[in-house]
Amino acid sequence: MNTRDHCLALDARDPLAPLRDQFVLPAGVIYLDGNSLGALPAAAPERIAQVVREEWGHDLIRSWNSAGWIHLPQRVGDKIARLIGARPGEVVAADSTSVNLYKVLNVALALAGGRRVIVSERSNFPTDLYIAEELLRARGGELLLLEHDQIGPRLRQGDVAVLMLTQVNYRTGRLLDMAALTAAAHANGTLTVWDLAHSAGALRVDLHAANADFAIGCGYKYLNGGPGAPAFVWVHPRHVDRLPQPLAGWMGHASGFHFAPGYAPAAGITRYLCGTPPVIGMAALECGVDTLLAAEPLGGIAALRAKSLALTDLFLRLVEQRCAGHSLVNITPTEHAHRGSQVCLTRAEGAYALVQALIARGVIGDFRAPDVLRFGFTPLYLRFVDVWNAVEHLHKVLASGEWKDARFNQRSAVT
Ligand SMILES: *Cc1c(COP(=O)(O)O)cnc(C)c1O
Repeated sequence: MNTRDHCLALDARDPLAPLRDQFVLPAGVIYLDGNSLGALPAAAPERIAQVVREEWGHDLIRSWNSAGWIHLPQRVGDKIARLIGARPGEVVAADSTSVNLYKVLNVALALAGGRRVIVSERSNFPTDLYIAEELLRARGGELLLLEHDQIGPRLRQGDVAVLMLTQVNYRTGRLLDMAALTAAAHANGTLTVWDLAHSAGALRVDLHAANADFAIGCGYKYLNGGPGAPAFVWVHPRHVDRLPQPLAGWMGHASGFHFAPGYAPAAGITRYLCGTPPVIGMAALECGVDTLLAAEPLGGIAALRAKSLALTDLFLRLVEQRCAGHSLVNITPTEHAHRGSQVCLTRAEGAYALVQALIARGVIGDFRAPDVLRFGFTPLYLRFVDVWNAVEHLHKVLASGEWKDARFNQRSAVT
């Protein structure tokens, strides 16, 4: 059996295959960028139209109560909680990942006694580093950027306030051991802030099992919540009521509609809200999260994770077979325990143009400076035969030199 037939056979017996029907996917596109912007849930256009036409257009302001708009952050948060090992009432959907990071980092620092050092990975996503850097400039403190294997030894010096990590590295796809790193942090009196941007919805996250302190994550990546979807925030119950977060808006107030002049934080995670929820975006996010919850009867995140690893294994194997001799270097960990749901290849020359040439062929991945070709694998809608076809396109783009064409070498604002 050749590999393409083998892929078709794998698809034919994939118990998750029906989940693909939950999405609108354009014909002729192999979408390997769900780690950056999840695909459109088929239910979203109608649901959004309903929110706009009926809840907004007809019921108007009454919808804050009658359609439950006011409880959307908690309602959607409870659904996200099921994907990340949190309990009902512990998560709210709100604001952006960057903004939520600002809130939890402030609180974590304030809880850290006199300590003033935040440790993170040098290759962490820039917005996380920028938020930490500027927050420390304002409060006084130091951001230490390390390689992942230097973190443990540095924690043992006993002066680190917060360990701020992204569970899956956006550039390399490396998956960090949340439980082990959290245990190492706690053993040294350090609190943990976990960014789940590339892990929530992609693999099993268990915040309680890992005994994490704070977590934030993104709504528009594996949660399929749509461009600029609200993000989410979780705080362990042992910390949540200890301090208010700094963006003390009325939605996080204990009784916002009393319009009292003084701030009193709500109990629990609701205090991590700031302003009015973006209702239309929340509706889209809920549709996205529902696409993941639909996998629950089919084995849930564990089944999705197994398929994701099978997809990335296949991609790596086919790239090795079909693209040998073309100077592609895999920087994704080969061990399952260390791999997220993406594959990252580097090429000293032409990485950007290669990605553009693939996009022109309908294979949508992305480029991350300076030299990374990044491919995300969303097991909800990707088929094994898509992986086969994607690698065939990559092979052709390389073998033909097609990527050298001038039109593939002009940089757009968003890569
Ligand atoms: C995608 C991503 C973000 C995005 O932050 P926004 O506030 O939504 O722009 C933040 N952190 C990490 C690690 C990400 O991967």
